[in-house]
Amino acid sequence: MSAPALAQFDSRKIDALTAYRAKQREHENFSEKLKNLRFSLRDLEKEYEKTEEDIKAVQSVGQIIGEVLKQLDDERFIVKASSGPRYVVSFRPTLPVDKLKAGTRVSLDMTTLTIMRILPREVDPLVYNMSLEDPGGASFAGIGGLGEQVRELREMIELPLMNPELFQRVGIKPPKGVLLYGPPGTGKTLLARAVAATLSTNFLKVVSSAIVDKYIGESARIVREMFAYAKEHEPCIIFMDEIDAIGGRRFSEGTSADREIQRTLMELLNQMDGFDTLGRTKLIMATNRPDTLDPALLRPGRLDRKIEIPLPNDQARLEILKIHAAPVNKGGEIDYEAIVKLSDGFNGADLRNVVTEAGMFAIREDRDYVTQEDLSKAARKVGDAKKHESKLEYNI
Ligand code: ATP
Repeated sequence: MSAPALAQFDSRKIDALTAYRAKQREHENFSEKLKNLRFSLRDLEKEYEKTEEDIKAVQSVGQIIGEVLKQLDDERFIVKASSGPRYVVSFRPTLPVDKLKAGTRVSLDMTTLTIMRILPREVDPLVYNMSLEDPGGASFAGIGGLGEQVRELREMIELPLMNPELFQRVGIKPPKGVLLYGPPGTGKTLLARAVAATLSTNFLKVVSSAIVDKYIGESARIVREMFAYAKEHEPCIIFMDEIDAIGGRRFSEGTSADREIQRTLMELLNQMDGFDTLGRTKLIMATNRPDTLDPALLRPGRLDRKIEIPLPNDQARLEILKIHAAPVNKGGEIDYEAIVKLSDGFNGADLRNVVTEAGMFAIREDRDYVTQEDLSKAARKVGDAKKHESKLEYNI
């Protein structure tokens, strides 16, 4: 190609490239505009939906929430509105009448006061908090030295929950629940958790003293709500710790706090009598002071089964110690029997403390393993701390 021809070719190439770039820019601008348009369209759509909802809300008639008190005849019910007044009302024909039992929450049309809908039961936030209690990874394998008690508990709770027909066939009533009694820190809570976790049931854990201490005037209602919640979430295990706080023998009824406890116990007894033995709700109660319990609580048909959870003996302490030491890094062989000899009178929680203390000694000496010496030192330390504790008698 001659030189001028080459120059002309180059300039054509440059022109084409420039034109291409311009087109590309135009395209980019266009894409950008399209994107912006899409965004504003989406905004508009959202705004439209919101306005639609607002209009619907303005147009719809308000509803009243109430509770069915009683059925008058085939067509009429008495409903107590949440604001207080009681009304005689009819219901929407499509509603299942058999579900409109006393206590059911319903919504009423504001103008005609017709029952429009059946509402789910309101779960009291306090009971909801109890239900958040997760039995966790508790298992029977993590409980040392309570073989016989585990067997009894499973027989009383697991068997009626899993095979109620066994009881029906023989014609006996399965236990509604069981009382675990014994010194503190011996694994009562652990046992209840293990049962719930093994059976994968719902688990409501209540510290009885907290019900009466925190919610004066409300405790009886909380007990009622708790049983109602359990019934709706069967299978369910209700675990009531420190039951002596409400189930204590009745003394004077002097103070208002005493009367509060009375009312709570009455409600508890009432609920225990009310629930079906063949239902899938079971009660486990625990106490350190069985001697102070009101006999009414232990009458047949209520908590008639009792299991003693004693302080662990040598063999049991060895098992518990091994369970708690299992996940810990150890330096050299550990003579567990020697530690058990140092731990006379210890409960399960103390033995767990021994392992934790031993770990602390290791950390202080900048080691990542625990030695026999750490464990012995820890056992002596826990023993010294325990010497100041007073002893209680456990007779029932
Ligand atoms: P409290 O009467 O004070 O409520 P408790 O009998 O319910 O006491 P737990 O809360 O079950 O005692 O035990 C406290 C801790 O002690 C448990 O979390 C567990 O780590 C340990 N522990 C107690 N007993 C045993 C046991 N038999 N086997 C293994 N660990 C145990």
